[in-house]
Amino acid sequence: VKKIAILTSGGDSQGMNAAVRAVVRSGLYHGLEVYGIQRGYHGLLNDDIFSMDLRSVGDIIQRGGTILQSARCKEFMTPEGQQKGAEILRKHGIDGLVVIGGDGSYQGANKLSKLGINTMALPGTIDNDIAFTDYTIGFDTAVSIVVDAVNKLRDTMSSHERSSIVEVMGRHCGDIALHAGLASGAETILVPEMPHDMDEITERMKQNFAHGKRHSIVLVAEGVGSGEEVAKALTDRCPTLEPRVTVLGHIQRGGTPTPADRNLASRLGDFAVRMLIAGESDKACGIIKGELVLTDIDKVVNTKKEFNRELYELASRLSQ
Ligand code: ATP
Repeated sequence: VKKIAILTSGGDSQGMNAAVRAVVRSGLYHGLEVYGIQRGYHGLLNDDIFSMDLRSVGDIIQRGGTILQSARCKEFMTPEGQQKGAEILRKHGIDGLVVIGGDGSYQGANKLSKLGINTMALPGTIDNDIAFTDYTIGFDTAVSIVVDAVNKLRDTMSSHERSSIVEVMGRHCGDIALHAGLASGAETILVPEMPHDMDEITERMKQNFAHGKRHSIVLVAEGVGSGEEVAKALTDRCPTLEPRVTVLGHIQRGGTPTPADRNLASRLGDFAVRMLIAGESDKACGIIKGELVLTDIDKVVNTKKEFNRELYELASRLSQ
């Protein structure tokens, strides 16, 4: 490959900018021409493509969001749209593309590779819902935002001996709730991967208060249902629990990326470029046990991420 392009797609996440920076600077370091595509596949189909240099990515490593902006693009879901995208890239002489995004964005990269464009996909989502990588770019920052929020809630909940329900993101994946729950000492963690029994949870909360606990934090992954639903289920069973609901929402997707996310993004971005140069295509870049790994995109999008039961059980044991 001689000319590569980069785009960010789907929901944004903290650390996407650090990944863009790594791809651009690593590409230039290796003598490639590097192009940015604005607004994901939507920008690709509108030929919104521009040349990037070392300075294009200055002062962004610490910024949330994505300077390339993101979008969802229906037209690109069609074979005609994909054909058009491949043609536009070819017109510019671009033979390598790095896509940063989630599952859907990966599938787009997979389609382009079948049309002769060398593609690499990087996991850019706070949800940590992508298989064949232990972590996605943005996950660590989202977890730290949730932990920070729970710390604050603990202060006020302890003063009033109340229970607090915190609804967090993650779509069908419970990883944000799990990791933030363990780190913040939440008493209860509800995730879509594990069954739960509201009667048992209510009983445990009552017992905890009876045994001197001054607060009770329930983290609810959105894949389970809303925080309000959980609050109602608890109140129906025990009105004195007086649960207060906090929905963190898009706050979880903003703010400066943690050092862990910046470093993950930097390593993965550089890896993607080196793998394109090595002749690889249609691959997802990930990190497993600290090692950079390549996996076929097809395999990644068709595999459900494994849930860490051990961590879940540990969190439960430690929150007695
Ligand atoms: P997030 O997980 O943050 O939502 P995502 O990448 O999964 O990110 P999607 O909206 O699913 O977000 O996908 C982003 C874009 O990728 C879509 O708008 C579409 O243009 C493209 N895309 C999604 N699925 C496919 C597919 N099956 N084939 C081709 N392109 C796709």
